[in-house]
Amino acid sequence: MSPPPRPCLRVALPVPLPQLFDYLPPEGVEAGPRLAGCRVRVPFGQSERVGIVVDTGPAPATVDPQALRRALAVLDDAPLLAGELAETLAWVARYYHEPLGEVVATALPGPLRAGDPLPETTPFGWRLTEAGQLARPRLRAGTRPAAFADRLGTETVAEAVLDADLPGWRSAARALGGRGHAERVALDGATGATAARPPPPLHPEQAEAASLVRAHLDGFAPILLEGVTGSGKTEVYLDAIAACLARGRQALVLVPEIGLTPQTLARFRSRLGIPVHALHSGLADGERAAAWAACARGQARVVVGTRSAVFVPLPEAGLIVVDEEHDASYKQQDGVRYHARDVALVRARALGVPVVLGSATPSLESLHNALAGRYLHARLTRRAGGATAPAVRVIDVRKRRLEAGLSEELLQALDDTLARGEQALVFKNRRGYAPVLLCHDCGWSAQCRRCDAPMTVHARGGRLICHHCGARAAAPRACPDCGSLALQPQGAGTERIDDALAARFPEALRLRIDRGTTRRRDALERHLAEFGERPGILVGTQMLAKGHDLPQLTRVAVVGVDEGLHSSDFRAPERLAQLLIQVAGRAGRAQRKGEVLLQTHHPDHPLLATLLAGGYPAFAALELADREAAGLPPYAHMVLLRAEAADEAAPRAFLGEAREALHADAEARGVALDVHGPLPAPMARRAGRARAQLLLSARSRPALHAVLDAWVPRLYGLPSVRRVRWSIDVDPQDL
Ligand code: ADP
Ligand code: ZN
Ligand code: ZN
Repeated sequence: MSPPPRPCLRVALPVPLPQLFDYLPPEGVEAGPRLAGCRVRVPFGQSERVGIVVDTGPAPATVDPQALRRALAVLDDAPLLAGELAETLAWVARYYHEPLGEVVATALPGPLRAGDPLPETTPFGWRLTEAGQLARPRLRAGTRPAAFADRLGTETVAEAVLDADLPGWRSAARALGGRGHAERVALDGATGATAARPPPPLHPEQAEAASLVRAHLDGFAPILLEGVTGSGKTEVYLDAIAACLARGRQALVLVPEIGLTPQTLARFRSRLGIPVHALHSGLADGERAAAWAACARGQARVVVGTRSAVFVPLPEAGLIVVDEEHDASYKQQDGVRYHARDVALVRARALGVPVVLGSATPSLESLHNALAGRYLHARLTRRAGGATAPAVRVIDVRKRRLEAGLSEELLQALDDTLARGEQALVFKNRRGYAPVLLCHDCGWSAQCRRCDAPMTVHARGGRLICHHCGARAAAPRACPDCGSLALQPQGAGTERIDDALAARFPEALRLRIDRGTTRRRDALERHLAEFGERPGILVGTQMLAKGHDLPQLTRVAVVGVDEGLHSSDFRAPERLAQLLIQVAGRAGRAQRKGEVLLQTHHPDHPLLATLLAGGYPAFAALELADREAAGLPPYAHMVLLRAEAADEAAPRAFLGEAREALHADAEARGVALDVHGPLPAPMARRAGRARAQLLLSARSRPALHAVLDAWVPRLYGLPSVRRVRWSIDVDPQDL
């Protein structure tokens, strides 16, 4: 008789392989179900990995018991991932067809991924001692210690609050602490609270939306909050969050990458009166882990975060909000290609809580669901606080002379804005000096050697940079083909527009905001604060399209609309319409009436005409009808298999094999699939690698996923798989 099989651990590891891995438990540890959800350190090949125990049980008969290796250590006393979050991560792995171990690695902050213990999160605060109160009048006004002492007054203020309120407070705390004038104290749950600033009286549409959310706090309810820019959506979120907190539940708010500003956090905190935890890529690793731990322990009651915050533990969840739900930054474009809005919906269902999707320009997916009655739908149709919607003027530039892409009519309008002491924004979604360097004599243009793309001209024509692979070169003085000196930058980016404005308005204050001038999040804040409310002109890309309230901004000029009208991606019209509405929404947010100028060679283009006549809802209705007729999302569901390799032929060979395998699977299941490709990717070569793709689409999502369930595991074993880097993209956003 053979001995009974030894119980072992089934572990998900962060490696690009679809299976789980079996290990014996560490010496002296019993492999029981209580280990599920705990992290373990295990040997893997010649190195070690940290994985998650998925379950425990006898090793499968196919595994040679002699070959089983022993895990090195169990890293958690209690499961780190359990219950709903563990189920959600398993769903993400299944739906996006990524290994569970990779999904877990995506969900965890760096230190936890690496195996560090869950950090301490006892909240601390600061208060002045009696001696400190006595010494306070003697502190020199305007110094950091004085500001710190003023902020404390007679209260105990949480460190999280000081972090947000008073940059640099720690040095002041050290100074006063050293003199015995201030002291650090552990806070129990309730302190850290400050008086909540009362909300403005909600206007009728807001009140209606707010009561809709309040009526659905007891279970899963997806709610689309469609409200024009400045209509007061944030006040509706705040009302819902306050109601959720009053019931003793946690709230999670997702915001787009550039929407998470200190302004946003300060607004939430002062209105809610409790610490608001932030979670975004700008935080240090330790801070991310601490925020995650505070959520897991229920200490964090309100979390505001970007994409990956959708994976925080919410043991007492009551509400999820996804602000600007249409925003592209919710889709992760590498690694595990999840969509945070969609994961938020799945979590809300699993948690039994409402999820509010807010936008002035909802994605066609969400709008379709709302129109089909699958989501509740609240609308805010007018701006809050007395601001009126901006007027739109189309500037037809056919046959007009342009200066760096700017028409005389547009320049006149800027002149007029400055004369009135107001601010204008010139929006151009292209950074650099010019998109192309062209030889006027022979037609040569500067192309990236490693990409199918032209190099962008920077530094007033002095430098060439590829925006796709980062390659840099000095701009040639003479044409490499014909030797001519007639090299000319074609078109205009923000840098060239800014130069043209400097020449035209030498006296005016200007500020250029793009990834060239403003790499870091706080640099944007600083630049805008310096610019202040003085009259002047802002020039910028997408970075300026949202997030910031600029009360003196009354004119927004959009140049380069036409570039967006000619893209091959079926989502391009949707993106362009969203961008135009969002940029236009910057104008006239306060009491002064705003104006938006659209400069175009296609004043009669149906997209512009519809958008101007009927706004985003009219555009969306038309676009949805087109999508339905063409069998495109949201009426069909897509999956993209991408492959790339240095070897030109390999991606197509791999995709060809994948296509063969697919036919067998689809036929076996009787699923009607549309398969396109293998085709070259829109940029067929990038960073020296050939790229191709295979597009699958089907009317039925369950049928499509049934095929994927069988097909994707087989991709790992295709003959050409080792010759390529491949990825699967479910619900791709860029085709
Ligand atoms: P959105 O999120 O829809 O763009 P916000 O919530 O930021 O809009 O509101 C836009 C502006 O209107 C903000 O300055 C806000 O303080 C103000 N506001 C919102 N609701 C009201 C209201 N009911 N009464 C007065 N002002 C309001
Ligand atoms: Zn030439
Ligand atoms: Zn390149």
